[in-house]
Amino acid sequence: MQKSIERIVGDSEGVSYEFPVFRFEGTDKAASSAYLQAALHAGELPGVVAIDALMPMLEKAEAEGRTKGNITIVPQANPIGRAQYHFGEHQGRFHLGTRTNFNRGFPLLAAPDVKLLPDTTLGTADQRLKSRLLQLSIGHDIVLDLHCDDEGLAYLYVHTSLWPAMADCAAAMGVDAVILWNEDTDGTFEGASITPYLKVPAEVARFDRRVATTVEYRGILDVDGALAGADAEGLYRLLVARGVVLDQALSTSGSFTGIVAPLENIDMMPAPRAGAVLYDVKPGDRVAKGALLATIVHAPGEAGGRTQLFAPQAGIILTRRSRRIIRAGEDLLKLVGDSKSADARSGTLED
Ligand SMILES: [Zn+2]
Repeated sequence: MQKSIERIVGDSEGVSYEFPVFRFEGTDKAASSAYLQAALHAGELPGVVAIDALMPMLEKAEAEGRTKGNITIVPQANPIGRAQYHFGEHQGRFHLGTRTNFNRGFPLLAAPDVKLLPDTTLGTADQRLKSRLLQLSIGHDIVLDLHCDDEGLAYLYVHTSLWPAMADCAAAMGVDAVILWNEDTDGTFEGASITPYLKVPAEVARFDRRVATTVEYRGILDVDGALAGADAEGLYRLLVARGVVLDQALSTSGSFTGIVAPLENIDMMPAPRAGAVLYDVKPGDRVAKGALLATIVHAPGEAGGRTQLFAPQAGIILTRRSRRIIRAGEDLLKLVGDSKSADARSGTLED
Protein backbone atom coordinates (compact mmCIF):
# COMPACT_ATOMS: atom_id res chain seq x y z
CA MET A 1 0.00 0.00 0.00
CA GLN A 2 1.30 3.42 -0.99
CA LYS A 3 0.33 6.64 0.72
CA SER A 4 0.59 9.94 -1.10
CA ILE A 5 -0.50 13.46 -0.24
CA GLU A 6 -2.65 15.53 -2.56
CA ARG A 7 -2.36 19.30 -2.34
CA ILE A 8 -5.08 21.77 -3.37
CA VAL A 9 -4.05 25.40 -3.70
CA GLY A 10 -6.34 27.77 -1.75
CA ASP A 11 -7.88 31.02 -2.89
CA SER A 12 -5.57 33.36 -0.99
CA GLU A 13 -1.86 33.70 -0.24
CA GLY A 14 -0.43 31.17 2.18
CA VAL A 15 -3.43 28.83 2.08
CA SER A 16 -3.44 25.30 0.71
CA TYR A 17 -5.19 22.07 1.63
CA GLU A 18 -3.93 18.50 1.84
CA PHE A 19 -5.48 15.06 1.94
CA PRO A 20 -3.97 11.58 1.86
CA VAL A 21 -4.62 8.99 -0.86
CA PHE A 22 -3.95 5.28 -0.30
CA ARG A 23 -3.33 2.95 -3.22
CA PHE A 24 -3.24 -0.84 -3.27
CA GLU A 25 -1.81 -2.27 -6.48
CA GLY A 26 -3.62 -5.28 -7.86
CA THR A 27 -1.88 -8.35 -9.23
CA ASP A 28 -4.32 -8.95 -12.09
CA LYS A 29 -4.69 -6.23 -14.73
CA ALA A 30 -7.99 -7.76 -15.90
CA ALA A 31 -9.57 -7.55 -12.43
CA SER A 32 -12.02 -4.78 -11.52
CA SER A 33 -10.56 -1.73 -9.79
CA ALA A 34 -12.19 0.29 -7.01
CA TYR A 35 -12.18 3.88 -5.77
CA LEU A 36 -13.62 4.76 -2.35
CA GLN A 37 -13.96 8.22 -0.87
CA ALA A 38 -15.66 9.53 2.26
CA ALA A 39 -16.62 12.87 3.81
CA LEU A 40 -17.04 14.86 0.59
CA HIS A 41 -19.63 16.54 2.80
CA ALA A 42 -16.94 17.07 5.34
CA GLY A 43 -19.01 16.53 8.49
CA GLU A 44 -20.41 13.16 7.38
CA LEU A 45 -18.16 10.71 9.20
CA PRO A 46 -19.77 7.21 9.19
CA GLY A 47 -17.90 6.44 5.94
CA VAL A 48 -14.62 7.75 7.37
CA VAL A 49 -14.71 5.34 10.30
CA ALA A 50 -15.89 2.52 8.00
CA ILE A 51 -12.79 3.08 5.83
CA ASP A 52 -10.65 3.13 8.98
CA ALA A 53 -12.04 -0.32 9.83
CA LEU A 54 -11.66 -1.54 6.22
CA MET A 55 -7.98 -0.63 5.80
CA PRO A 56 -6.56 -3.45 8.01
CA MET A 57 -8.68 -5.96 6.05
CA LEU A 58 -7.20 -4.69 2.77
CA GLU A 59 -3.67 -4.65 4.18
CA LYS A 60 -4.10 -8.28 5.27
CA ALA A 61 -5.39 -9.18 1.78
CA GLU A 62 -2.39 -7.44 0.23
CA ALA A 63 0.06 -9.21 2.54
CA GLU A 64 -1.50 -12.53 1.51
CA GLY A 65 -1.39 -11.70 -2.22
CA ARG A 66 -5.18 -11.56 -2.54
CA THR A 67 -5.47 -8.02 -3.96
CA LYS A 68 -6.43 -8.64 -7.59
CA GLY A 69 -7.55 -5.17 -8.73
CA ASN A 70 -6.21 -1.70 -8.01
CA ILE A 71 -7.85 0.06 -5.03
CA THR A 72 -7.65 3.80 -4.42
CA ILE A 73 -8.92 5.16 -1.10
CA VAL A 74 -9.53 8.76 -0.04
CA PRO A 75 -10.76 8.59 3.57
CA GLN A 76 -11.28 12.35 3.93
CA ALA A 77 -12.06 13.83 0.55
CA ASN A 78 -12.73 17.43 1.56
CA PRO A 79 -10.07 19.28 3.57
CA ILE A 80 -11.64 22.60 2.53
CA GLY A 81 -15.00 21.77 4.11
CA ARG A 82 -13.24 20.15 7.05
CA ALA A 83 -11.66 23.48 7.99
CA GLN A 84 -14.83 25.58 7.75
CA TYR A 85 -16.22 26.72 11.09
CA HIS A 86 -18.74 29.52 11.43
CA PHE A 87 -19.22 30.83 14.98
CA GLY A 88 -18.07 27.52 16.40
CA GLU A 89 -20.32 25.39 14.20
CA HIS A 90 -18.84 23.12 11.55
CA GLN A 91 -20.00 23.85 7.98
CA GLY A 92 -18.99 20.93 5.76
CA ARG A 93 -21.78 20.83 3.19
CA PHE A 94 -21.37 24.10 1.30
CA HIS A 95 -18.19 25.90 0.33
CA LEU A 96 -18.46 29.17 2.25
CA GLY A 97 -16.49 31.06 -0.41
CA THR A 98 -18.86 30.25 -3.28
CA ARG A 99 -22.01 28.97 -1.45
CA THR A 100 -21.76 25.86 -3.61
CA ASN A 101 -22.66 22.42 -2.29
CA PHE A 102 -19.48 20.32 -2.20
CA ASN A 103 -21.44 17.52 -3.90
CA ARG A 104 -22.66 19.66 -6.80
CA GLY A 105 -20.85 21.28 -9.69
CA PHE A 106 -18.64 18.33 -10.64
CA PRO A 107 -17.92 18.43 -14.39
CA LEU A 108 -20.17 16.06 -16.36
CA LEU A 109 -17.70 14.82 -18.96
CA ALA A 110 -18.64 13.56 -22.43
CA ALA A 111 -16.42 10.51 -22.01
CA PRO A 112 -14.42 8.85 -19.18
CA ASP A 113 -11.21 10.66 -20.08
CA VAL A 114 -9.24 12.83 -17.63
CA LYS A 115 -8.02 14.93 -20.57
CA LEU A 116 -11.57 16.34 -20.80
CA LEU A 117 -11.41 17.79 -17.26
CA PRO A 118 -11.68 21.60 -17.25
CA ASP A 119 -8.65 23.74 -16.43
CA THR A 120 -9.28 24.96 -12.86
CA THR A 121 -6.10 27.02 -12.53
CA LEU A 122 -8.19 30.20 -12.53
CA GLY A 123 -11.13 28.59 -10.71
CA THR A 124 -11.85 28.43 -7.00
CA ALA A 125 -10.35 26.00 -4.50
CA ASP A 126 -13.53 23.90 -4.35
CA GLN A 127 -13.47 23.56 -8.16
CA ARG A 128 -9.84 22.44 -8.02
CA LEU A 129 -10.75 19.88 -5.33
CA LYS A 130 -13.68 18.52 -7.38
CA SER A 131 -11.58 18.24 -10.52
CA ARG A 132 -8.83 16.40 -8.61
CA LEU A 133 -11.24 13.96 -6.93
CA LEU A 134 -12.81 13.13 -10.28
CA GLN A 135 -9.37 12.70 -11.83
CA LEU A 136 -8.41 10.28 -9.03
CA SER A 137 -11.59 8.23 -9.54
CA ILE A 138 -11.92 8.07 -13.34
CA GLY A 139 -10.84 4.74 -14.77
CA HIS A 140 -11.94 2.68 -11.77
CA ASP A 141 -14.72 0.17 -12.43
CA ILE A 142 -16.16 0.67 -8.95
CA VAL A 143 -16.68 4.16 -7.50
CA LEU A 144 -18.16 4.52 -4.01
CA ASP A 145 -18.89 7.94 -2.50
CA LEU A 146 -19.63 7.50 1.20
CA HIS A 147 -22.06 9.98 2.74
CA CYS A 148 -24.74 9.96 5.42
CA ASP A 149 -28.13 11.54 5.88
CA ASP A 150 -29.55 13.42 8.85
CA GLU A 151 -31.23 10.45 10.57
CA GLY A 152 -31.89 7.55 8.26
CA LEU A 153 -31.64 4.01 7.00
CA ALA A 154 -28.56 2.81 5.13
CA TYR A 155 -29.32 3.31 1.44
CA LEU A 156 -27.77 3.75 -1.99
CA TYR A 157 -28.46 6.07 -4.89
CA VAL A 158 -27.95 4.12 -8.13
CA HIS A 159 -28.37 5.16 -11.77
CA THR A 160 -31.03 3.08 -13.56
CA SER A 161 -28.44 1.85 -16.10
CA LEU A 162 -26.67 -0.04 -13.25
CA TRP A 163 -29.76 -1.73 -11.88
CA PRO A 164 -30.39 -4.60 -11.29
CA ALA A 165 -26.74 -5.40 -12.13
CA MET A 166 -25.69 -3.76 -8.83
CA ALA A 167 -28.10 -5.79 -6.68
CA ASP A 168 -25.16 -7.99 -5.59
CA CYS A 169 -23.43 -4.85 -4.24
CA ALA A 170 -26.51 -3.74 -2.29
CA ALA A 171 -26.77 -7.24 -0.83
CA ALA A 172 -23.06 -7.35 0.01
CA MET A 173 -23.21 -3.99 1.78
CA GLY A 174 -26.35 -4.94 3.65
CA VAL A 175 -28.13 -1.64 2.97
CA ASP A 176 -31.85 -1.23 3.62
CA ALA A 177 -32.86 0.55 0.42
CA VAL A 178 -31.82 1.52 -3.11
CA ILE A 179 -33.12 4.69 -4.76
CA LEU A 180 -32.90 4.68 -8.55
CA TRP A 181 -32.37 7.91 -10.48
CA ASN A 182 -32.26 8.88 -14.15
CA GLU A 183 -30.78 12.28 -14.71
CA ASP A 184 -28.28 14.51 -12.91
CA THR A 185 -27.99 18.04 -14.20
CA ASP A 186 -26.39 19.42 -11.01
CA GLY A 187 -23.13 17.46 -11.19
CA THR A 188 -23.05 15.29 -8.09
CA PHE A 189 -19.90 13.20 -7.71
CA GLU A 190 -21.94 10.09 -8.47
CA GLY A 191 -23.49 11.78 -11.51
CA ALA A 192 -20.04 12.82 -12.73
CA SER A 193 -18.85 9.22 -12.18
CA ILE A 194 -21.55 7.55 -14.29
CA THR A 195 -22.58 10.21 -16.86
CA PRO A 196 -19.42 9.84 -19.03
CA TYR A 197 -20.22 6.13 -19.48
CA LEU A 198 -23.75 6.85 -20.69
CA LYS A 199 -22.26 8.51 -23.77
CA VAL A 200 -19.79 5.81 -24.88
CA PRO A 201 -20.34 2.44 -26.61
CA ALA A 202 -21.66 -0.39 -24.42
CA GLU A 203 -18.41 -2.37 -24.75
CA VAL A 204 -16.57 0.59 -23.18
CA ALA A 205 -19.23 1.38 -20.56
CA ARG A 206 -19.39 -2.25 -19.39
CA PHE A 207 -22.40 -1.71 -17.10
CA ASP A 208 -22.19 -5.38 -16.09
CA ARG A 209 -19.03 -4.67 -14.09
CA ARG A 210 -19.45 -0.96 -13.37
CA VAL A 211 -20.44 0.39 -9.96
CA ALA A 212 -21.13 4.04 -9.13
CA THR A 213 -23.11 4.94 -6.06
CA THR A 214 -23.66 7.46 -3.33
CA VAL A 215 -23.77 5.45 -0.12
CA GLU A 216 -25.88 6.99 2.64
CA TYR A 217 -24.63 5.38 5.83
CA ARG A 218 -27.63 6.24 8.02
CA GLY A 219 -27.52 9.43 10.09
CA ILE A 220 -24.92 12.04 10.95
CA LEU A 221 -24.75 10.78 14.55
CA ASP A 222 -24.28 7.13 13.54
CA VAL A 223 -20.51 7.31 13.97
CA ASP A 224 -20.11 4.14 15.96
CA GLY A 225 -17.50 1.42 16.28
CA ALA A 226 -19.86 -1.52 15.76
CA LEU A 227 -21.56 0.09 12.74
CA ALA A 228 -18.17 1.04 11.28
CA GLY A 229 -17.04 -2.59 11.60
CA ALA A 230 -20.21 -3.89 9.96
CA ASP A 231 -19.98 -1.32 7.15
CA ALA A 232 -16.31 -2.20 6.57
CA GLU A 233 -17.30 -5.85 6.23
CA GLY A 234 -20.01 -4.81 3.77
CA LEU A 235 -17.50 -2.87 1.67
CA TYR A 236 -15.08 -5.80 1.82
CA ARG A 237 -17.82 -8.23 0.72
CA LEU A 238 -18.56 -5.93 -2.24
CA LEU A 239 -14.88 -5.91 -3.24
CA VAL A 240 -14.79 -9.71 -3.01
CA ALA A 241 -18.09 -10.11 -4.90
CA ARG A 242 -16.71 -8.00 -7.75
CA GLY A 243 -13.33 -9.76 -7.83
CA VAL A 244 -11.22 -6.83 -6.61
CA VAL A 245 -10.11 -8.86 -3.60
CA LEU A 246 -9.92 -12.64 -3.46
CA ASP A 247 -11.33 -14.34 -0.36
CA GLN A 248 -12.52 -17.91 -0.75
CA ALA A 249 -13.44 -18.11 2.93
CA LEU A 250 -16.18 -15.52 2.45
CA SER A 251 -19.67 -16.86 1.84
CA THR A 252 -21.87 -15.20 -0.79
CA SER A 253 -24.28 -12.52 0.36
CA GLY A 254 -27.47 -13.87 -1.23
CA SER A 255 -29.91 -11.72 -3.12
CA PHE A 256 -30.94 -8.17 -2.21
CA THR A 257 -34.21 -8.11 -0.29
CA GLY A 258 -34.40 -4.42 0.64
CA ILE A 259 -36.53 -1.61 -0.76
CA VAL A 260 -35.95 -0.60 -4.39
CA ALA A 261 -37.77 2.52 -5.54
CA PRO A 262 -37.39 5.21 -8.19
CA LEU A 263 -36.50 8.71 -6.99
CA GLU A 264 -39.92 9.88 -8.24
CA ASN A 265 -41.54 7.96 -5.39
CA ILE A 266 -39.91 10.03 -2.65
CA ASP A 267 -42.10 12.54 -0.86
CA MET A 268 -39.95 15.17 0.84
CA MET A 269 -42.67 16.49 3.22
CA PRO A 270 -41.97 20.20 3.80
CA ALA A 271 -43.04 21.67 7.15
CA PRO A 272 -46.21 23.78 6.86
CA ARG A 273 -45.24 25.84 9.93
CA ALA A 274 -42.14 26.79 11.87
CA GLY A 275 -41.76 25.37 15.38
CA ALA A 276 -40.68 22.36 17.41
CA VAL A 277 -41.04 18.98 15.72
CA LEU A 278 -42.61 16.00 17.50
CA TYR A 279 -42.09 12.97 15.26
CA ASP A 280 -44.60 10.14 15.23
CA VAL A 281 -42.45 8.01 12.91
CA LYS A 282 -38.81 7.02 12.64
CA PRO A 283 -36.66 5.72 9.75
CA GLY A 284 -37.71 2.20 8.78
CA ASP A 285 -41.35 2.60 9.82
CA ARG A 286 -43.98 1.46 7.33
CA VAL A 287 -46.87 3.94 7.16
CA ALA A 288 -50.33 3.84 5.58
CA LYS A 289 -51.77 6.72 3.56
CA GLY A 290 -53.10 9.32 6.00
CA ALA A 291 -50.92 8.16 8.93
CA LEU A 292 -49.72 10.85 11.34
CA LEU A 293 -46.05 11.62 10.55
CA ALA A 294 -45.24 14.57 12.80
CA THR A 295 -46.74 17.34 14.89
CA ILE A 296 -45.29 20.86 14.78
CA VAL A 297 -45.75 22.89 17.94
CA HIS A 298 -45.83 26.43 16.51
CA ALA A 299 -47.79 28.31 19.21
CA PRO A 300 -47.02 26.55 22.52
CA GLY A 301 -49.86 26.55 25.05
CA GLU A 302 -52.40 28.10 22.67
CA ALA A 303 -55.54 26.50 21.28
CA GLY A 304 -54.74 25.39 17.76
CA GLY A 305 -51.05 25.77 18.45
CA ARG A 306 -50.19 22.38 16.98
CA THR A 307 -50.19 21.40 13.30
CA GLN A 308 -50.20 17.78 12.26
CA LEU A 309 -48.70 16.36 9.08
CA PHE A 310 -50.04 13.20 7.44
CA ALA A 311 -48.63 10.70 4.93
CA PRO A 312 -49.72 11.59 1.37
CA GLN A 313 -49.35 7.93 0.39
CA ALA A 314 -48.33 4.57 1.87
CA GLY A 315 -44.62 3.83 2.11
CA ILE A 316 -41.48 3.58 4.26
CA ILE A 317 -39.84 6.36 6.25
CA LEU A 318 -36.33 6.68 4.79
CA THR A 319 -34.96 9.67 6.75
CA ARG A 320 -35.91 12.42 9.15
CA ARG A 321 -34.19 15.48 10.61
CA SER A 322 -31.69 15.12 13.42
CA ARG A 323 -32.65 18.50 14.88
CA ARG A 324 -36.13 19.26 16.10
CA ILE A 325 -36.22 22.96 15.25
CA ILE A 326 -37.73 23.78 11.86
CA ARG A 327 -38.70 26.69 9.63
CA ALA A 328 -41.73 26.66 7.35
CA GLY A 329 -40.87 24.97 4.07
CA GLU A 330 -37.91 22.95 5.35
CA ASP A 331 -38.16 19.22 4.83
CA LEU A 332 -39.35 17.13 7.78
CA LEU A 333 -38.59 13.70 6.35
CA LYS A 334 -38.24 11.54 3.25
CA LEU A 335 -41.01 9.04 2.64
CA VAL A 336 -40.37 6.37 -0.01
CA GLY A 337 -43.86 5.95 -1.37
CA ASP A 338 -45.30 2.88 -2.98
CA SER A 339 -46.07 5.01 -6.03
CA LYS A 340 -44.98 8.24 -7.71
CA SER A 341 -45.02 11.37 -5.55
CA ALA A 342 -47.54 14.08 -6.41
CA ASP A 343 -44.92 16.64 -5.31
CA ALA A 344 -43.24 18.33 -8.27
CA ARG A 345 -39.93 18.54 -6.35
CA SER A 346 -39.45 14.79 -6.31
CA GLY A 347 -37.00 13.35 -8.80
CA THR A 348 -33.96 15.38 -7.77
CA LEU A 349 -30.89 13.90 -6.11
CA GLU A 350 -30.85 14.88 -2.44
CA ASP A 351 -27.61 13.43 -1.13
ZN1 LIG B 1 -23.57 14.01 1.91
